[in-house]
Amino acid sequence: MKKTKYVFVTGGVTSSLGKGIIAASLAKLLQERGYSTTIQKLDPYINIDPGTLNPYEHGECFVTDDGAETDLDLGHYERFLNIPTSQANNVTTGRIYQSVINKERRGEFLGKTVQIIPHITDEIKNRIQILGKTGEFDIVITEIGGTVGDIESLPYIESVRQLLWELGHDNAISIHLTLIPYLAAAGELKTKPTQHSVKILMQSGVSPDVLVCRTEHKLTDSIKNKLALFCNVQKEAIIESIDAETIYDVPLLMLKEKLDEVVLNKLQLPYNNKPSLTSWKDFLSKHKNPKYTVEIGLIGKYVELHDAYKSISEAFIHAGANNEVKVKLRWIHSEGLTPENVPSKLNGLNGILVAPGFGGRGIEGKIDAVKFARENKIPFLGICLGMQMAVIEFARNVLNLKDAFSIEMNPDTPHPVINLMEEQKTVVNKGGTMRLGSWKCKLEENSKIKSIYQQEIIDERHRHRYEFNNAYLSQIENAGLKASGKNPKTNLVEVVELEDHPWFIGVQYHPEYKSTVLNPHPLFVDFVKATLEHSLT
Ligand code: GLN
Repeated sequence: MKKTKYVFVTGGVTSSLGKGIIAASLAKLLQERGYSTTIQKLDPYINIDPGTLNPYEHGECFVTDDGAETDLDLGHYERFLNIPTSQANNVTTGRIYQSVINKERRGEFLGKTVQIIPHITDEIKNRIQILGKTGEFDIVITEIGGTVGDIESLPYIESVRQLLWELGHDNAISIHLTLIPYLAAAGELKTKPTQHSVKILMQSGVSPDVLVCRTEHKLTDSIKNKLALFCNVQKEAIIESIDAETIYDVPLLMLKEKLDEVVLNKLQLPYNNKPSLTSWKDFLSKHKNPKYTVEIGLIGKYVELHDAYKSISEAFIHAGANNEVKVKLRWIHSEGLTPENVPSKLNGLNGILVAPGFGGRGIEGKIDAVKFARENKIPFLGICLGMQMAVIEFARNVLNLKDAFSIEMNPDTPHPVINLMEEQKTVVNKGGTMRLGSWKCKLEENSKIKSIYQQEIIDERHRHRYEFNNAYLSQIENAGLKASGKNPKTNLVEVVELEDHPWFIGVQYHPEYKSTVLNPHPLFVDFVKATLEHSLT
């Protein structure tokens, strides 16, 4: 049983400073130094989880093995640390309140007035310590979403204050991530916003042990002295975090800045073995020095916000490096596609990916893109909704079932080739009610998918309500679209692949969630390989 130590990460001055990447980079370094480390994200919004959020709000919804719908930062944690996260790694205010209110209804507070302090803060403190209490981790890093000063974050900061005090200084520390803006007109870096932000934090009783300063320019000695003086932080604990070419450079930059040493010192933990990060550096060097370039079209309806497809674009970075290929993504809005303009808009692509999604907006454009990939023998990967559209396109244009559709888009279609799952028919609530999390899938002998995974049984993560309708299975297979992966228990079709095509695969699950730097996903690796072959012929 390990005695867990805690690191809290707060953000100041502005949002979008990359707290998740700093937390993941620190965790990576601590992991490399032999400390088992995990990261948790506390989100101050009132939704129970981001599952019901439009991707335009906070980007992609990430899904864990145990079926939690979570913030996209958990994707970064998994991609950096190469270990799975779970429901316990993401907590929202909504969930905290829900559980306190449920306890109140059960009478667990014995007639007391239920208040933010101590009831909400106790619940937050319990959630923070859930991962520590498993005994699995030496260090738990807790990232507090939002920016200090936000009304919503106050109970979290208060809980951090209490925990820092209760756990003691050797067992828990606080890192504040802040921005040092550069004023071009004055030619100067400015510390004032950081002074203010630290002051706000101190008003809540939290004094940062470490400042990580996001900056476009190197921090001079005098800037560090000033920050140390005004913010009560030791000079060596003021860490520069300069803009990086890629997020994957950040662990190396933090190593150079000794963030891990500063943290271990403060937590009174020894550090002997300096991280070599050999495989990480190998990945980075391949990523930065590609031998070839391919262009893949990402067809989706949220393409204006690239974060909506974060795990997919990161999976291409991992798979690209593995193939020594630069994957250029052409972001294509499915709403703008028509049968007439598809040849020009998709012209020159080496691969086409039809993305996951919900609802009918832009759906015909996705189907047109599938048709173009199928007919022109362009490597094609359909994920979740993308797989469903591949089935619909095939039913309409090969089997001639003219109005074939998913009943998600047309409940009255005469040919519901994609149907609502039986157990979904009585579901009314939207949140947390899809088929979620990791499910087994059995791959068919002699299929392309099996040759890619080199495994008979795979586990992949799901997030959907609709499924391939097995009433159409034999008709579809006989015409050449094979169901090459099925759920071994329910026989639900999880993978389809086209026989007479160089590379055409649709998967009902989300392979992108399981791609990491050290374990690029085999399906993405093989897809990129196929696009490379396409580009060379
Ligand atoms: N909307 C589809 C379904 O619910 C696909 C979901 C997805 O792409 N994640 O089945």
